[in-house]
Amino acid sequence: MNEARVLLVDDDAALLEALPQAILLRMDGISIDTAQSAFDALERIREVDYDAIVTDIKMPGMDGLALLDEIDKIRPGTPTLLITGHGEHDLAVQALRGGAYDFVAKPIDRDYFIASLERAIKMRRLDREVDRQRIALQRHARVLEHVDDGVFLVDPAGLVQHWNPAAAAITGLAAMTVLGHAADDVLPGWSAVGPTVPVASVPGPGSTEARTLPFEIDGREIWLSISGVAFEDGVVYAFRNLTEERALDELKGEFVATVSHELRTPLAAIYGSAQTLLRRDIDLDDGKRRQLLEVIAQESERLSRVAADILLANNLDSGRLQLEQRRLDISQLAHDVVEGMRSVHADRGDVSIEVTLQETHSFVAGDEDKLRQVLINLVDNAVKYSPDGGTVEVRIEPNSTNVSVSVTDQGLGIPIAEQQRIFGKFYRVDPQLSRGVGGTGLGLYICRELVRRMDGCLTVTSREGEGSTFVVELPLVATRAAEPEPPEAVPQPA
Ligand code: ADP
Repeated sequence: MNEARVLLVDDDAALLEALPQAILLRMDGISIDTAQSAFDALERIREVDYDAIVTDIKMPGMDGLALLDEIDKIRPGTPTLLITGHGEHDLAVQALRGGAYDFVAKPIDRDYFIASLERAIKMRRLDREVDRQRIALQRHARVLEHVDDGVFLVDPAGLVQHWNPAAAAITGLAAMTVLGHAADDVLPGWSAVGPTVPVASVPGPGSTEARTLPFEIDGREIWLSISGVAFEDGVVYAFRNLTEERALDELKGEFVATVSHELRTPLAAIYGSAQTLLRRDIDLDDGKRRQLLEVIAQESERLSRVAADILLANNLDSGRLQLEQRRLDISQLAHDVVEGMRSVHADRGDVSIEVTLQETHSFVAGDEDKLRQVLINLVDNAVKYSPDGGTVEVRIEPNSTNVSVSVTDQGLGIPIAEQQRIFGKFYRVDPQLSRGVGGTGLGLYICRELVRRMDGCLTVTSREGEGSTFVVELPLVATRAAEPEPPEAVPQPA
């Protein structure tokens, strides 16, 4: 430990000589400065933060009481002992009221004086240590305010005693609703999950592995990677939000499974057909051969569609996709798509595809090929997800500024909770439900992104078990006044 520094102030030169010697004889690890006046003392006090000050109460110029006031201003908390003359009892009391640590009456009882000085120095050191710890704590608290990880403290009684802003942001639980309450009451699921959180007994990196655990807060599931460190004051837990990473990981896993299934099914059909065609031991008639070649053609096309979807989604993500902005008649386009889809799904006798037009023409600005792709996808989904058949209706309804193309089916419908998620990349509603119906989960993502890039929007309304309506809404462009429709051919009089 450092030497304790003491300042002795007295106008009596003899005492200034004798007292330090007496102190040094009885105390170790101490260094003593002396000052002959209060002014002299103040100068030193400004420079040195003493552990204790001993001053005579009566001095010419500034006396001990005035010095006490000044010390309180410059170095508050420095214990100051006052030496009082014989019979100056009132002054001593006044000094104690003024904040003096103790007083020693002349003639000085050395034992008492040394004991008091030792206590003063000890108290000062404790004060300093407390201050240091308080500052360190404040610094840590400030750091905790700014870290991205959620941090909270659960005391030995199970009450939450610290809850940093990141904890509030991640969980949506405000500090005031959590602090001072039992963790089991305010942190949903804590009573079950809390005991499974790994808690280290020594702080430090790698002292324990965090666990990723699910919490349900206000109906939303969040996945937190969480670990704790035990201290005397309780357990400090730190966590970060892995909900998105986890969801993405799950999606990636599902996507790999979906894509490999999507690739494997057509590949198996192609491979099987080709092998059959190659066999010499069976005689295939022309009809059979043609059938097998058709399978190969169709399945190859399906393969290239999957590949094209993945590529297109990737291009949309990276912003590399250039779209045309041409004026086109969406009523006509919808008509063509319906015609085409009727023949594609000719085998689905249980589904009829109808089109309803309010106006013969509705013009929008966009990329015709891509818009065709969007409508094909929506009609295709409507048929695909109507396993029990029904009507698929395509309606084109212009209003003063926009035109909406809606595709309504009477199929499976989509649960409310899934209605926004189906537009996410690779997202497919419960694979069990749509088993046997191929898809990569990219279709609606691509559709929505394409429509957005044409300044429109794609939305859905649906009731589970009753059917769905997907609506593409696009801004209308004015029917070109400068370029009227060609007049109907009127027979000219000869
Ligand atoms: P895919 O059809 O390739 O799986 P999409 O992105 O086109 O991918 O659709 C995502 C999911 O949305 C589908 O897996 C399906 O569960 C659901 N879905 C899309 N259209 C409909 C619809 N018309 N009716 C019911 N569910 C649908």
